[in-house]
Amino acid sequence: MEDDKDKESKCMRRIIACLLLCLLFSLTACTRNKEGSSSGYTSENYMEATSKFFAMDTYITFTAYGKDAEQILNSAQKKVNELESLWSVTDTNSEIYAVNHSAGNYVTLSQETTDLVSFALEMADKTSGALEPTIYPILTAWGFTTDKNHVPSEDEIAKLMQYIGHDKVILSGSQIQIEDGMQLDLGAVGKGYAGDLVVELLKENGITSALLDIGGNIQTVGAKPDGSSWRIGIKDPLEDSNMGMLDIVDKAVITSGGYERYFTSEDGKKYGHIIDPLTGYPAESGLISATIIASEGKVGDALSTSIYVMGVEKATEYWRDNKNFDMILITDDEEIYVTEDIEKQFALSNSHSEMKVNVITDEEN
Ligand code: ADP
Ligand code: MG
Repeated sequence: MEDDKDKESKCMRRIIACLLLCLLFSLTACTRNKEGSSSGYTSENYMEATSKFFAMDTYITFTAYGKDAEQILNSAQKKVNELESLWSVTDTNSEIYAVNHSAGNYVTLSQETTDLVSFALEMADKTSGALEPTIYPILTAWGFTTDKNHVPSEDEIAKLMQYIGHDKVILSGSQIQIEDGMQLDLGAVGKGYAGDLVVELLKENGITSALLDIGGNIQTVGAKPDGSSWRIGIKDPLEDSNMGMLDIVDKAVITSGGYERYFTSEDGKKYGHIIDPLTGYPAESGLISATIIASEGKVGDALSTSIYVMGVEKATEYWRDNKNFDMILITDDEEIYVTEDIEKQFALSNSHSEMKVNVITDEEN
């Protein structure tokens, strides 16, 4: 009898100890900050911190590992907010707003904005204008900037096309000038560029493992804390599931697709938010999504938009000429194209195993 009681009370003590440990663990697992939310938990080898917030018109989640990760992520969030206040097209205090309302006068830009504009112009040149940082007046005509979408008349588009053209932007040092009526839109590159600046900030502060999700754009620092690759889902643009998974280390994986933001007109036709700058109409290149894998987020972002405009053939040509990135393209007839170097890191999901994967190689076959 004594033995049984002893056993019982030992057992009770163990249960209470377990409950106390659980309570302690859940207390350390939950911390909060004012603007977003963040959490950190200790494990034997690393500490994880997460920061979630809304900025640049999208949902952002940063996850970083390391001793001071939480505090460093707070600085990262501050950095993104600062960049947004420089680059927003709608914030009347932003530098881009000042440029767009300069009535043809010179405007002085900060270093960050100068770098972003200069990079966007360089990529516009390289992609023969598939990336067009002056597309904003056309976007407005389609109502994408106000969410009051409608199909503009051919006349309206033709009239606005005179204001489109990156070659008319004069950037001299930190001074910029655009013609009255022209407007810049850095929406196709800004998030990738911001991601690069956050990656830089994290690395400078000693973070060697982090995952940034900026509205579905993924940027990573190093590998996972256990040294394995990050496994990134590639979305099926037609349904709410992953069509494949990609293993990467220290790379950006950035996707553009017409499906992300579009409207349906009265006659039932869908119009996406990525414009073909040659026509002024939403791009219809045969692609429904373009994912770029690159070392830098800005390259991935600029290319995801412009490769989407180009379509498979021109994108293949561009890749063969440049090679500083990999890509996964999905066509409207549900075929996948992947560049040869990324093929081994990419696997179709079980639900999509019937899809045809075409490999884009260096040489024409
Ligand atoms: P998202 O920002 O939705 O992730 P993108 O990086 O592809 O996707 O950027 C699309 C945005 O870029 C559009 O919403 C618009 O503001 C702008 N844009 C649309 N077409 C072009 C284009 N051809 N060149 C540059 N920017 C564009
Ligand atoms: Mg882009």
